[in-house]
Amino acid sequence: MAMIDSKTSINIVGAGISGLIAAMILEQNGFSPVIWESTDRVGGRIKTIKENGFQMDLGFQVMLEAYPKIIEHLDLDELELQHLLAGAIIYHKGKSYSLGDPIRNPLKFWNVLFSPIGTLSDKWKIFKWFLRLRKLSPEQIFSNRESTSLKHLKDLGFSDKIIQLFFKPFFSGIFLETELETSSRMLEFVFKMFIEGNAVIPKKGMEEIPLQIANRLFRTKINFNSKVTKVEEGKLHIEGKGALDSDFTIVSADPSAIVPNLSHNPMEWNRCDNLYFAANSRSLKPPIIGLLAGDYLVNNIFYASSVEQESEIEKELLSVSVIKEHNLTTEELVESVKLELAEQMGIKDLEFIKHFKIDRALPKIVNMQYSVDTSETQLSPSIYLTGDYLLNPSQNAAFVAGEKVAKAIIEKIGKA
Ligand SMILES: Cc1cc2nc3c(=O)[nH]c(=O)nc-3n(C[C@H](O)[C@H](O)[C@H](O)COP(=O)(O)OP(=O)(O)OC[C@H]3O[C@@H](n4cnc5c(N)ncnc54)[C@H](O)[C@@H]3O)c2cc1C
Repeated sequence: MAMIDSKTSINIVGAGISGLIAAMILEQNGFSPVIWESTDRVGGRIKTIKENGFQMDLGFQVMLEAYPKIIEHLDLDELELQHLLAGAIIYHKGKSYSLGDPIRNPLKFWNVLFSPIGTLSDKWKIFKWFLRLRKLSPEQIFSNRESTSLKHLKDLGFSDKIIQLFFKPFFSGIFLETELETSSRMLEFVFKMFIEGNAVIPKKGMEEIPLQIANRLFRTKINFNSKVTKVEEGKLHIEGKGALDSDFTIVSADPSAIVPNLSHNPMEWNRCDNLYFAANSRSLKPPIIGLLAGDYLVNNIFYASSVEQESEIEKELLSVSVIKEHNLTTEELVESVKLELAEQMGIKDLEFIKHFKIDRALPKIVNMQYSVDTSETQLSPSIYLTGDYLLNPSQNAAFVAGEKVAKAIIEKIGKA
C-alpha cells in the first residue's frame, strides 16, 4: 500500500465511467480524490431520462455481459439486467429475416442457412469465424494487424451480399459510422463479445451503471456544474471558480479541448441521432434489434418497452437510431424516418416523443488497444489520461482505462 499523505491532491476531470472507476480504486487505496464534472450528473455518455412517464436512454446503448471488466466492478443482480435476444431481424426489400446465433441457437441458425442474407459459403465462414474468435483473448484480438472493418470482412472472404445485408447495418449501428472504417480489432472484439454473452440493459436504464459506481464512492467529492477550462502542470482551471493547485490531475474528458499541449490534435467523433416514438402495439414482440439494410436514414430499431422498464406508461416505446449523415431539421428527420419505418418495416401509427442529437458519441481512434501499461497513462509529471478514447470506444475500455490510471498514480505515490 502506498504512503498516503492527506495533503496529496488528486483531481479528476469528468464523472463518466472511467473517472468514477479511477475514483473508486483510488478510494480503495486510501485516497480522497475530487471530481470536477461540467454537467449536473454522473455518467457522461451514459444517460437515461424519464419524461412524461417514458424511460429513454440518450442513444440506443447496451452493455455486453461478456465484457471482462464488468464482473469485477458491477453488482449485476442489483442492476436488474434485461436480456436482449441474440441475433437480429433484418429488413430488406419489404421482407424480414431472422438472423440467429449459430452457437447458442443452432436450430434457429439452420433457418438462416437458407435465408437470402448471404450465400451458404458466407454462413459457413461466419461459423468458422465464431469458433476462431472464441479461442482468442481480447488482448490477442487487439494485437492483431489493424485494418478497416470493411477490408477485414472482405479479406475473410465474405460476399458483398452478406456485407451489405448484415455486417454493414449491424456494425454501423455499433460503430456509429456507415462505411465500416472502424478498426478491424474493434470488429472482432465486439463480435466476440456478442457471441459470448447477452446484450443487456438495466431495468431502470443504462444510467444505472454509472450511478451504481457513484453510489459506492464515500471519500470522493464530486463537484457538479464545474467545467474545467484548462489543465496545466500542477494546476487546474475551473470556469467561474479560478485556478487550483493539483498534485495529480486525471483527465477523462477530451484532453485536446483542455490540455494546451494536445490542442493541435483535436479529437474526432462519430455521431448519431436517436428518435423515440410511442405506439399502441409492437411489430417486434421479442426484445430483439431490427436492422434496416440499405441506404436509409434508419439504421436500427429497438422496442425499449420489449424489456421490463420502470415506466408508468401503457404504451410501447420504440427507439430508432439514425447513423447516416444528413442536414435535416428534427421535423424533417421525423417525417423521413416515419416514412421509412412505414414503407420498409411496416411500422405505422407512431407518435413522435423525442429526438436526441448526439454529436460526440464515439471517439475516432487509430491503433486501437485493449489496455495500456500504467506508465502510458502519464502525460507529464502531474497530468494523467484516462477514458475510452485511450483504448477503444466501449464501456469496457472506460473501465480498463479508469483502473489503469488509478494504478499509475498509486504506483507513483508509492515510489515517491
Ligand atoms: C449513442 C451511444 C451509444 C453507445 N453504445 C455503446 C454500446 O452499446 N456499448 C458500449 O460498450 N459502449 C457504447 N457507447 C460508448 C460508451 O458510452 C463510452 O465508451 C463510455 O461511456 C465512455 O466513458 P468515459 O468515462 O470514457 O467518457 P465520458 O462518458 O464521455 O465521460 C467524460 C465526462 O467528462 C465530462 N466533461 C467533459 N468535458 C469536461 C470539462 N471540460 N470539465 C469537466 N467535465 C467535463 C463529461 O460531462 C463526462 O461526464 C455508446 C456511446 C454513445 C454516445
